[in-house]
Amino acid sequence: KKNCLIVGAGGVAQVVAHKCAQNNDVLGDLHIASRTVSKCDEIIASVHEKSAMKVDGVFKAHALDATDTAAVAALIKQTGCEIVINVGSPFVNMTVLQACIDTGVAYMDTAIHEEQDKICETPPWYGNYEWKRRDACKNANVTAILGVGFDPGVVNSYARLAADDYLDAVESIDIVDINAGSHGKWFSTNFDPEINFREFTGTVYSWQKGAWQSNKMFEVGQEYDLPVVGKQKAYMTGHDEVHSLSNRYPEADVRFWMGFGDHYINVFTVLKNLGLLSEQPVKTAEGLEVIPLKVVKAVLPDPSSLAPDYTGKTCIGDIVKGTKDSKPAEVFIYNISDHKEAYKEVGSQGISYTAGVPPVAAAMLIANGTWDVGEMANVEDLDPKPFLNLLNEIGLPTRIKDADGDRALTF
Ligand code: NDP
Repeated sequence: KKNCLIVGAGGVAQVVAHKCAQNNDVLGDLHIASRTVSKCDEIIASVHEKSAMKVDGVFKAHALDATDTAAVAALIKQTGCEIVINVGSPFVNMTVLQACIDTGVAYMDTAIHEEQDKICETPPWYGNYEWKRRDACKNANVTAILGVGFDPGVVNSYARLAADDYLDAVESIDIVDINAGSHGKWFSTNFDPEINFREFTGTVYSWQKGAWQSNKMFEVGQEYDLPVVGKQKAYMTGHDEVHSLSNRYPEADVRFWMGFGDHYINVFTVLKNLGLLSEQPVKTAEGLEVIPLKVVKAVLPDPSSLAPDYTGKTCIGDIVKGTKDSKPAEVFIYNISDHKEAYKEVGSQGISYTAGVPPVAAAMLIANGTWDVGEMANVEDLDPKPFLNLLNEIGLPTRIKDADGDRALTF
């Protein structure tokens, strides 16, 4: 058993907490920390109400400013945690990672590090922050798994599996993320609006023909016809996993596509063109200084409030093309998740569910030694099979569609 500290108490943390509790026979004592301790208390209460813990054990809430490395290290020592699951905002990644290196415990996160004042950094994104700590992790024998949510995360494993088992040479990896669900609000983002909009205001980087290519958001679109969700329009979007997969598979084109309805695009375009997505402070005539993006966030629905009424399904997967036995070959490896079922099980919507289950699977694989590699790794650097098998068991089953048909994938 290895005790776990969950950093953050938002939508994803809620799922992580439930899944850790359902598997605390492997994960041991559980701790959850954020600046607002009441959010942690609420999550623990919901765990006791809905999931209960698999075996009797500790689940404690703590107040923590995760930008304070020494405070994170002190909490790790105080709680005796050996695995830190960082699902706080992406602004805290580097301080939490440093605390793990300082205390010699395992680290993981689900999104790339971001600085508040920088909207879009130069590729490869991991090279700007995380990868700079590779040697430090190795020297301290610290397992640090980067971006182990769904995308990035599970999709990185899907790409590795396709390259290892289904193709001899990989020519392209297209990750497609379709949320065909409906939240019933006039407009809402599915997770923190600040993070959500930041994803779409910067340059869209893709890796094509062996080099970084730049586009604008909503400039390149394509219709996909996918299992369960059907025909959906998706747009090329900048995303973390493009920046690590292109490093492992430089000969392949690596692109990320996200589904958007016309309504989202209209609202986004108006907000952006009015300057309401800006992070630069503006002064009102009354002398009040406000950050437009923070105001937009304040008036939009809290993404976790969407959960009770969210219906429909998500389909996220990798279309990987290349050659097998000198002939052209293609696979689609994917997962279908259901918003209502996620809510029934853990009180969250499907987007948080798909992001929150994978880090718990990773924690279980660290606890049993399978993924305890003692160095920094992106998900595609690790054996995908134990991970995908565990995900099959704990809520995110993998399917594959290729020339042999459409079927569940187990190993
Ligand atoms: P939320 O905004 O709902 O939650 C973020 C949490 O971080 C809050 O509970 C906040 O609590 C806490 N937090 C922020 N700053 C600090 C701080 N300085 N110290 C301690 N805690 C802090 O986000 P989500 O749950 O939606 O997302 C969590 C992470 O998961 C994000 O990094 C997001 O990008 C990522 N994600 C990854 C996905 C994937 O598939 N890979 C998909 C969706 C999300 P408080 O303010 O009280 O401190």
